[in-house]
Amino acid sequence: MQHFPVFLDLAGVRVVLAGGGDAALAKLRLLLRTPARIAVHAAAPVHQIEAWAAEGRIELIRRPLAAGDARGARLVYAATGDEAEDARVSALARAEGALVNIVDDLAGSDFITPAIVDRTPVTVAIGTEGAAPVLARALKAEIEERLGSGLGALAAAAKAFRDRAETLPHGRARRAFWAEWFEVEGPRAQATGAGLDAALDALLDRHRARARPRGHVDFVGAGPGDPELLTLRARKALDRADVVIHDRLIAPAILELARREARLIDAGKEGFGPSTPQAEINALIVRHAREGAHVVRLKSGDPGVFGRLDDEIEACEAAGVTYAVVPGITAAAAAAAQVGQSLTRRGRNAGVRLITGHDVKGFADHDWRALARQGEVAAIYMGKRAAHYLAGRLMMHGAAADVPVTVVENASRADTRVLATTLAELPQALDAAAMSGPAVILYGLAPREALAAAAAAAAPAGNLREAAP
Ligand code: SAH
Repeated sequence: MQHFPVFLDLAGVRVVLAGGGDAALAKLRLLLRTPARIAVHAAAPVHQIEAWAAEGRIELIRRPLAAGDARGARLVYAATGDEAEDARVSALARAEGALVNIVDDLAGSDFITPAIVDRTPVTVAIGTEGAAPVLARALKAEIEERLGSGLGALAAAAKAFRDRAETLPHGRARRAFWAEWFEVEGPRAQATGAGLDAALDALLDRHRARARPRGHVDFVGAGPGDPELLTLRARKALDRADVVIHDRLIAPAILELARREARLIDAGKEGFGPSTPQAEINALIVRHAREGAHVVRLKSGDPGVFGRLDDEIEACEAAGVTYAVVPGITAAAAAAAQVGQSLTRRGRNAGVRLITGHDVKGFADHDWRALARQGEVAAIYMGKRAAHYLAGRLMMHGAAADVPVTVVENASRADTRVLATTLAELPQALDAAAMSGPAVILYGLAPREALAAAAAAAAPAGNLREAAP
């Protein structure tokens, strides 16, 4: 971020613009939305600039900018359309202490003007540091659409009402009031033509009468790591959270999406040593919910896949705390997608198993005979350490030594690695790869491209790739 966005107070501030053509005109249209005192230097300005001068909205000086003209100005725009003249203007202005923008000259400018969505008092500024003006325009159009034209009026009414709203308790109660204003009551009042002030009064009365907010728990699947694989509902829950209790596997980029004021608690570590006992996590969730917090219990992948979800739900039920489950993309789905395979395939396997390499009692037992059948597919979670045992069991029950096996480490993340091997080679291949991240073993699946390569030439087993997802 070479260009740091700030919102500059232009009330009564002098802004000088050199130039009288279309580029100058475009900048003036923006500047005229501010309370700046604007002076324009132009010998032969276009008609509109003349008209603004006649209306007294700008001061028009019919000569080029000269020494002393930029004194006291905070911003100076060089928009003469002449490179040498722009350079002269900017040198003069800088010497007199102003920040300079040369239109269409990023390198020569002290500041740049972002693409702006104006819903005063709400302003959205979009910048790409000159890298992608097309993208900035597209984003602007998208945001224009997203922010209804009535938003400015809602925000202005809210601003005037702020003191009264402060009679509500700080925190959740007040946020609930404003959320309802912007999402429900405000737009409704605008649509029906009711007065905004009266609508705010009525809403406040309603919220005042309400008892202390009740806590709630959302069990949210965070997916395999890539924030783009979050559901919209997960994002909304994070947006509203007071407390986020998360596993150790959750990527920082996802935690960053939590509401800024939310308290983040790492249930893998915080105060409990290397691994928090389940009972303590249950107690933590219930305690925060009872205090009235909106708790997001954030789990990697899908909360219902090897996530101890039932323990936590039962703790909520026992405590009379309401809850909801937001599903997520489980590691098996992410890993299969990454290697271009489907988990089930007509004529190959009519079902897929999600199994764990080990459970509370040690290496987990499964129906090995069924799994060993030709064409079976299983996604093995927490299976790295159990690989030797798994391969042994499966082959003992008749699985072929050359059944394809793909291990996907850190699925969907930038540092993902894919290990394509066979059942017999799996333990050694895993040892050699020394994976430290979470990995899911896809038994019965080879990466699609490796399949193609194998058809052309025999692909070596234990082929490790580092790949961008
Ligand atoms: N609820 C999670 C699973 C939690 S158990 C889910 O639905 O995905 C933890 C195991 O999940 C890890 O040992 C690993 O086998 C797997 N896992 C989680 N995230 C992963 C990722 N990004 N890539 C590969 N495997 C992952």
